Amino acid sequence: MMIEDTAAPASLQAIASCVAGYDPDALPVPQAQEFIARLVPVVQAVERRPIRDALGRVLAHDVISTIDVPSHDNSAMDGFALRGSDLRSDAVTRLRIVGSGLAGQNFAGAVPAQACVSITTGAVMPSGLDTVVPQEFTQRDGEHVLVPAGLLRAGDNRRLAGEDLARGEPALIAGRVLRPADLGLLASLGQAEVPVRRRLRVAFFSTGDELRSIGEPLDAGCVYDSNRYTLWGMLQRLGVDAIDLGVVRDDPAALRDTFSQASTCADAVITSGGVSVGEADHTKRIMAELGEVLFWKIAMRPGRPMAIGRIGSGTTPAILFGLPGNPVAVMVTFYAFVRDALLRMAGATPQALPMLRAASLGPIRKKPGRTEYQRGIVSRADDGRWQVAITGSQGSGILRSMSQANGMVLLHHGQGNVAAGELVDVLPFDAWT
Ligand code: AMP
Ligand code: MG
Repeated sequence: MMIEDTAAPASLQAIASCVAGYDPDALPVPQAQEFIARLVPVVQAVERRPIRDALGRVLAHDVISTIDVPSHDNSAMDGFALRGSDLRSDAVTRLRIVGSGLAGQNFAGAVPAQACVSITTGAVMPSGLDTVVPQEFTQRDGEHVLVPAGLLRAGDNRRLAGEDLARGEPALIAGRVLRPADLGLLASLGQAEVPVRRRLRVAFFSTGDELRSIGEPLDAGCVYDSNRYTLWGMLQRLGVDAIDLGVVRDDPAALRDTFSQASTCADAVITSGGVSVGEADHTKRIMAELGEVLFWKIAMRPGRPMAIGRIGSGTTPAILFGLPGNPVAVMVTFYAFVRDALLRMAGATPQALPMLRAASLGPIRKKPGRTEYQRGIVSRADDGRWQVAITGSQGSGILRSMSQANGMVLLHHGQGNVAAGELVDVLPFDAWT
């Protein structure tokens, strides 16, 4: 019982009926994404963590500021605090220095007219003073300071109480994946702990008799399992608990065991391999036997076949992502479908990824009617604009194309051939973390 959702989940058929244009045999990418967004439940359990441990975790409740930050008006510069109304617009203003205020050591006295207080950055503004002249713009004349005409307006170089965060204002909204700035913001409120959703647990394994694990001899006709490593890396970047269940032979008993283990220990199960149309092995059959699973043909390249559904018995089955086996297809389908789905399950509000518009350095062949993800190398042209070159072979088994690339050229469903120089959408890989 991993997902503590209260309402009974809708059947897969009911979800499909909500998705306009649903066709399991030629499913456009946006429809598949919509289906998955409707399918996945959200982890409900909440725990309080010390703020340093909360980096990358999903905020469970809004954080409302209980104090004004900063708590007092204070100086933004090292210089002299003065009354804006004392400033002369036509001539140098001459002010008597009556004391000093340091950050953490307030100037407590009263300041008469035509006087000022020397002040450091962050020091509380003395009562009645509203403006700071930076040290470097002044001249000293014994006990006086000279401020040039026309330099300042009243209120300059003063930070107002509550200008960062006002008491009662939401500082952070639930669903946010906490970043370094957020830890600092929480600290500035004096908050030691923060409520976060419990970490999502994701089990994954590879299927296929031809797969060998590192350390095993590579028998004739076999390949080393690479998908468990790319998946592990992508899951680490998402901050979930990744549970590696190894390589599973094409054997009904072994598959049954691993699926049940996965669905009891995890919120989501990711498999690779064994879901294509011509598969002779048992993976699809066992998936269908142990859960409620759809087998899709997605209008995309790479990554056409995919299984999606729920696996395991009971009221809280795990969500199944049965990805294709080809190493590039695994990564592309992960980024196209699984990443946002896991973020949603973890309680995060998925954000649109920043996308570049880059000029294609060469022509790209593209058929309308499917979404294509081509691997590309993005760079800056001499004129500062972005350009992109497709990496060599785009075969879905050529993992090197992923490794060489620094971005994915996203060719949309309706788009056709691209001419050299035409602008295309590119997702930089680093934006995906
Ligand atoms: P499948 O989807 O099972 O038909 O596999 C498609 C292709 O991907 C085949 O060439 C498999 O050998 C290869 N493949 C499947 N799983 C893996 C894996 N875990 N690591 C590397 N290659 C794989
Ligand atoms: Mg296979």
